[in-house]
Amino acid sequence: MDRTAVNDFVRQQWDSSVLPSLSGLVAIPAVSPTFDAEWEASGHLDAVIEHVRGWIAAREIAGAEIEVVRLPGRSPLLLVDVPATGGACSETALLYGHLDKQPPVGGWSEGLGPWTPVVRDGRLYGRGAVDDGYSGYAAVTAIEALRAHGGEHPRCVLLLETGEESGSPDLPAYLAHLGERLGRIGLVVCLDSGGGDYERLWLTTSLRGLVQLNVTVRVLETGQHSGAASGLVPDSFRIARRLLDRLEDSATGEVLIPELNVRIPENRVAEARSCVAAAPGLVRDSIELPEGMRTVVDDEAELALNNWWRPTLSVIGAEGLPHPSDAGNVLRPYTTLDLSFRIPPTADPDEALRAVRAALEADVPYGASVEFGRSEAGQGFNAPDTAEWLNDALDAASTEVFGNGWRTMGLGGSIPFMGLLHDNYPDAQFVVTGALGPGSNAHVPDESLDLDYAARVTTAVAYVLDAHARR
Ligand SMILES: [Zn+2]
Repeated sequence: MDRTAVNDFVRQQWDSSVLPSLSGLVAIPAVSPTFDAEWEASGHLDAVIEHVRGWIAAREIAGAEIEVVRLPGRSPLLLVDVPATGGACSETALLYGHLDKQPPVGGWSEGLGPWTPVVRDGRLYGRGAVDDGYSGYAAVTAIEALRAHGGEHPRCVLLLETGEESGSPDLPAYLAHLGERLGRIGLVVCLDSGGGDYERLWLTTSLRGLVQLNVTVRVLETGQHSGAASGLVPDSFRIARRLLDRLEDSATGEVLIPELNVRIPENRVAEARSCVAAAPGLVRDSIELPEGMRTVVDDEAELALNNWWRPTLSVIGAEGLPHPSDAGNVLRPYTTLDLSFRIPPTADPDEALRAVRAALEADVPYGASVEFGRSEAGQGFNAPDTAEWLNDALDAASTEVFGNGWRTMGLGGSIPFMGLLHDNYPDAQFVVTGALGPGSNAHVPDESLDLDYAARVTTAVAYVLDAHARR
């Protein structure tokens, strides 16, 4: 392949074609099904699928089949199947991204907003720009660049789902449904991640899993005057605190349930140490803290392991508690909490969820009732060792396209599909990468995509696909 021409092609495509279409994608409020119970009626997920389908169809890639796959009651999937160029590569490369988005949330800066695409200082602002709308554009542009400039690629199947931000609940069914059609997957390229700076290509070597559940502690049918009832009836919040103490040491944040803990592999401990030694502040400074606030521990390698490997609990929602301005002196009937655990990459999420439930409902103090609402269990991912051909391709891509060697890191977040794919295709190589970096603000206000970096990631994907076809 003509590497200079591939690089130029990608840049030109990003400016003339990708950016205008991706800006249109930002304007569509396609929040993930979890955040829009009426998603089927509102039609925004169908709209983003159609938007990207239309753009890909207009590329007129020879032999490419584009299909919207729909299973009843499940969020739709866009599937693009591009036949291999000339060579004899018998494996499929699966390229993955998602088109559903996090909710808009408030607090966007002046002149910016979730559904208003704005290009400012080389970044495209708006919800879904970097997480993860650009992914399909990057994958298709990489394929086009190879075809236009003497590159090779294996059969490529691009899979863009619309349920990732809800924990990808529909993907196992789609994977089973597509089954044979996907062929023998030898390479997975996931474009829903990123790295610690914009100076190089980053690979994500592990992702934590996720366990989320909703629990209600009930002590009364209706609220009572707290002067009359307190001292007789225990406060539901106090019981909830005691139940949480079974799950987590509130002094240290250590999660106490064995099913949520694993022994961290030696190579990952070493990776965390070398990663923070090479780039001090990479983990510690990734989150801005208010004056006076300290991190959980001082040692940065431990912070990395805390974030990439160890289980953590975040209480992400509550109910049964009035807004402070409406709060009277009442012994409330119940407290509902939404508990969100990030679990180690190699922990079993279903076992973890079962264990958490069991801990919460055994011997509840004072015989209070414990009820469970919706729950979610998403698998983590621990990457297999990198094959030599891939190692060489990543070396070339990172030094030639970015000017620096590539690096690996873990990620505290979750992409449940990666673990599922790793289970189904244990011999596949994984390139989990993407355009997320400092200031991307995924999931929070002012989400933005670094356009220059996204173009470089696109070119890097072309390098990897070419190397896979020629290996
Ligand atoms: Zn994402």
